[in-house]
Amino acid sequence: MEKMIKLLAPRSRLGVVTRVLLFTAALSLANIVFSVIIAPLLPDVPFLYGIARAVFVAMPLLCLLFGVMMYQAQLQRRLSFMSRKDWLTGMNNRRTFFDLASTRSQQCKTGILLMLDADHFKQINDTYGHQAGDICLKAISYMLSRNLRVGDVSGRIGGEEFAILLADAKPDHARVISERPTKPIPFRVGPAHLTITLSIGAVITSPETPLEVSLSLADKALYQAKSEGRARVVFAEPVFDSGQIRLAL
Ligand code: GH3
Ligand code: MG
Ligand code: MG
Repeated sequence: MEKMIKLLAPRSRLGVVTRVLLFTAALSLANIVFSVIIAPLLPDVPFLYGIARAVFVAMPLLCLLFGVMMYQAQLQRRLSFMSRKDWLTGMNNRRTFFDLASTRSQQCKTGILLMLDADHFKQINDTYGHQAGDICLKAISYMLSRNLRVGDVSGRIGGEEFAILLADAKPDHARVISERPTKPIPFRVGPAHLTITLSIGAVITSPETPLEVSLSLADKALYQAKSEGRARVVFAEPVFDSGQIRLAL
């Protein structure tokens, strides 16, 4: 079908004219063939003649038209998926995550925003190759997705960086929930059994706090988690101080 579409789609004005002429010629030929060869074989019933002509002349064109339409619709769905999702892990990509998380954080009373970054990920690429790095990213994504609840939003927002918005998570459970992904995540590269850990910056969100503010707080907390030795979660508590939000770590 792809080849046929390429052949059918005109690339210039001349292409449009050529194709219109070719289609007109094909239609005329089909009409002539019908009138000369098929029509004399039919009983002299006008109703039957009309149906036979439509089937012989119009049906092939309609089949082509609907085939192309189905293919275009399928292509559109694929393009839409590719523009929203990360090609490697199938998670939301950066833009989709921000769109969805922004809406979700407005809807839920208290959420927890996690920024997660794989520890010493570059070493995996350098030691075992880029493909091993990709396997590791897929393992991280699988583990994260398994621990999500309906209504949570997650995404791969950078190379080895992920973000999750845990919607309506009770602040009391915040630490328990966010500490789970800091445990070593196993993955296999050929015969080698490896693990990777994540550092996490977390912040409690509210509908009043813009997502960008929460992200910046979580990012600073992540930076601290890295500098404190990695494989841990650091919480940035947003403190409302006469309308201003400041970071309390
Ligand atoms: P840290 O613990 O401080 O986060 O160190 P790190 O090595 O994880 O971080 P760094 O920023 O030094 O390296 C990130 C690496 O991730 C560099 C880049 O080549 C790699 N990377 C980014 N995207 C991909 C990807 O899609 N696949 C693979 N295999 N590697 C990627
Ligand atoms: Mg990083
Ligand atoms: Mg990293």
